[in-house]
Amino acid sequence: MWVRKRVDIGWSDLTAALAHCALPGSRATRAAELERLWSHAGDAIACLSVRSGFDLWLSAINLPAGSEVLVSAITIPDMLRIIQDHGLVAVPVDIDPDHLAVDPASLEQGLSPRTRAILVAHLFGTRQPLETIAQFARRHDLLLIEDCAQAFVGTSFTGDSEADVSMFSFGPIKTATALGGALLRVDDKQVRDAMRQVLASQPLHSSWTYARRVLKYTGIKFLTGRLSYAAVFHTWQALGRDPDQLVNGAVRGFAGPGFFQRIRRQPAASLLAVMRRRITRFSRERIARRGENGQFLLDQLRGALVSPGWASAEHTYWVFPVLVDESSRLIAALRQAGFDGSSAHSMCVVPPPADRPEQRAVMAENILPRIVYLPYCSALPRYEMERMAAVVRAVAESSENQSRSPVIAAAPQLSSSGQAR
Ligand SMILES: *Cc1c(COP(=O)(O)O)cnc(C)c1O
Repeated sequence: MWVRKRVDIGWSDLTAALAHCALPGSRATRAAELERLWSHAGDAIACLSVRSGFDLWLSAINLPAGSEVLVSAITIPDMLRIIQDHGLVAVPVDIDPDHLAVDPASLEQGLSPRTRAILVAHLFGTRQPLETIAQFARRHDLLLIEDCAQAFVGTSFTGDSEADVSMFSFGPIKTATALGGALLRVDDKQVRDAMRQVLASQPLHSSWTYARRVLKYTGIKFLTGRLSYAAVFHTWQALGRDPDQLVNGAVRGFAGPGFFQRIRRQPAASLLAVMRRRITRFSRERIARRGENGQFLLDQLRGALVSPGWASAEHTYWVFPVLVDESSRLIAALRQAGFDGSSAHSMCVVPPPADRPEQRAVMAENILPRIVYLPYCSALPRYEMERMAAVVRAVAESSENQSRSPVIAAAPQLSSSGQAR
């Protein structure tokens, strides 16, 4: 069975991670090495996670309570929780389904006298150009933060020069994961110094805690091998359980109580060493192949279903989403054919503040609940992609009410009424 999402780490990395846990070395040295690797400009900061880094940055800039942050409409709920915890208000900015880029009209409309910053997430492996948003930010004196958690491509892109902050994640479901960790580039030296000061006061995430995490994911990697996953999946289903809970529940970071206490930690030396290893050994060919394969799969779908982000000029297909009205039918057909498609995910649409209902992100609300993720990785051979695409096309063709072509499908329909047909 083709697994929905692999933990992108090798056995040798896991072994090396355990070795680093046993002999972690100096935290300060590890951090300096890693930060220099990420950026020669001295503007990088290594953190325990993107959430930790974002929280740290908000602590350092200390915006007045009640300030508003314009947030591109699809993100993970924790980002909103962090914004709220700093006394700030998240205001959604809608995104266009074809490019997954911020909608300029919604950006204009979201602006208020209290707006101080814009947080833009690049989704699913796409990367949206920031020029227009940056111009808008300059015009209105706003800070611009880009969330590149899903857009890692190695050291060839470590953040847009237009952004004040660029954040990359090495969390468990991300490309080239270190099973945790994040790298931020922060433009303003004063802010950076303030962040370092706060970070130094935080308790340490120990190598022991990290070692436990490495062991947990060693188990998960074993169970999500192609053959073992089929066995586990079918057993779990036979027990009447939902496979989504099995996989997605297991890989959520910082779940449970004490969220802020757990993200506000300095990364362990061992974790920093593993991040460095993942970056230095990262294969550009592999990510290029992932992008080409994504394009191949898109072509094979022949417009039967829309893949949000399909029109983005930069797309490495971290995941492969398609839009479908009856997701359960598609998922059942895929699973029958040995493809573990899933609609489970950990993202949300940013809700508008109570007094700004007009800022509802209608397009985002329309696409997110209709997404099915096709199982997808750079190891998927072309003949299997052809077979999977045939399953998808058959389901789409047998159902009357699906959007046909990417060109005529998503954009006009969605933006005019905001409703699925
Ligand atoms: C994964 C993810 C994050 C969080 O990254 P962590 O390093 O796990 O905190 C934030 N934003 C987006 C869009 C993500 O996909």
